[in-house]
Amino acid sequence: MDGYKGGWIEIIAGGMFSGKSEELIRRLRRAVIARQRVQVFKPLIDDRFASEDIVSRDDRRLKAIPVASSADFLARVEIGVQVVGIDEVQFFDAGVVDVCMQLADAGIRVIAAGLDQDYMRRPFGPMPALLAVAEEVSKMHAVCVRCRGAAHYSQRVSGGNAQVEVGDSSYEARCRSCYELYEATAPEEEPVVQLTIPQSA
Ligand SMILES: [Zn+2]
Repeated sequence: MDGYKGGWIEIIAGGMFSGKSEELIRRLRRAVIARQRVQVFKPLIDDRFASEDIVSRDDRRLKAIPVASSADFLARVEIGVQVVGIDEVQFFDAGVVDVCMQLADAGIRVIAAGLDQDYMRRPFGPMPALLAVAEEVSKMHAVCVRCRGAAHYSQRVSGGNAQVEVGDSSYEARCRSCYELYEATAPEEEPVVQLTIPQSA
């Protein structure tokens, strides 16, 4: 939302490979060019590429402060900051919604990017609440690997059943008609030892 006045919440939502981080970086760069004071945060869980940067898939990067919780995030916002960026916001605790509201109420433009759904198509963490309170929501789409249509889902193709399985190789972008329910293959069962009872002589 360029040309905003005062506090505002913008959410960039979508599946994996949909260009959320690229879009976040693009908006934050414009704010930097406009000489606004910008701070960028990300949850500690994601150290896919680099610990202190947010990195887009086209290798654009921006310095980000890793934070362990929403309280930690709020504590590190500096006085005088005009724009706050957050990447991978779905990994935050539920308190991040209140923090974003507090910052926006205080006149800060908040721009957060995150996965709207997990690999089971369940709304992810604090995202439903963030989408509800945001002034502006952008839904990003990847390209479906099967049919080349617009992909809305992060299809898990390997790994376990945990909600968080960090690593791009475990996922593919898929559209609604190409999405398949993923079930992890069960770990191999212990071979059943057959006891042979010797025939009494
Ligand atoms: Zn498809």
